[in-house]
Amino acid sequence: MKQLIVVADMEGASGIFDSNKEACWHEEMFPENPLWRSYGRPCITSDVLAVCSAATEMGIDEILLLDMHYAGCREYNVELEKLPPNVRVFDLPNRSALWSRIRGQAAIEPYGIVTVGQHARNGEADAYFPHTIHTPPIESFYLNGLHIAEIGESVMCFCDVPYIANIGCAASHKEALELSPNVTCITVKDKRKNWEPSPEETYPIIYQGMLDALKDYKNKTAYPYQEHCHCSLHLTEGYFFEAPDSFPWKGTFQDRTATYEAHDIETALSLFWQLHAYIKKCARE
Ligand SMILES: [Zn+2]
Repeated sequence: MKQLIVVADMEGASGIFDSNKEACWHEEMFPENPLWRSYGRPCITSDVLAVCSAATEMGIDEILLLDMHYAGCREYNVELEKLPPNVRVFDLPNRSALWSRIRGQAAIEPYGIVTVGQHARNGEADAYFPHTIHTPPIESFYLNGLHIAEIGESVMCFCDVPYIANIGCAASHKEALELSPNVTCITVKDKRKNWEPSPEETYPIIYQGMLDALKDYKNKTAYPYQEHCHCSLHLTEGYFFEAPDSFPWKGTFQDRTATYEAHDIETALSLFWQLHAYIKKCARE
């Protein structure tokens, strides 16, 4: 059985630009914002549908979808009822990013992983909504030397699984290529070229790009399993780490930087959230 993992974010979806950024703002956080439901959800759904339709056409049996935009909110961004019947979602409380649970629900050896609706990391030029998981307070997060954000978290969680394609903002491909140099990169908007097409225009581009990526499966490579994980988390100006008297893992806190070690990626990604308890905001002058 061929199982494909599809990880969807939303800032990198087709049709969502600086001019209509409210389309990304989940209704459970911004109840007065109608654009997420009326326009944003159809945008990311179009991109995910193009991925799933092409994958099904290419013989993928089952698709497991991780809808990680505004994890913690209950309702999905993707309109699940519009997807083919071979798509199911991970069983997570309020779509929380519980990486061990996510990895554990997938096949031992999924056929591949695809990231869609993806934005660039904090600091990338010519990017739509660049950020690293949540910026501020996170300036950057390094795991074994790679600056990772949502794309890196997902692909590293599924290490050793062939990375088939990244779909999103042109500036998002840099992170994807650092994780796996043979990943197919499909662009749905490009700030540098001021190219802002509609979801209707990008649907066939994504569909064809996915067919081509899966036809090239033998050349796809995975981010490799890591024996040890060395992590460092850096905060934006105005925040600092308040070190506790003792903490139960191997690490250090110094002003705006925390470092730690973990024996596997899932633990490393989980500790990322535990460190948030020690992030403090500088008092205003
Ligand atoms: Zn997002």
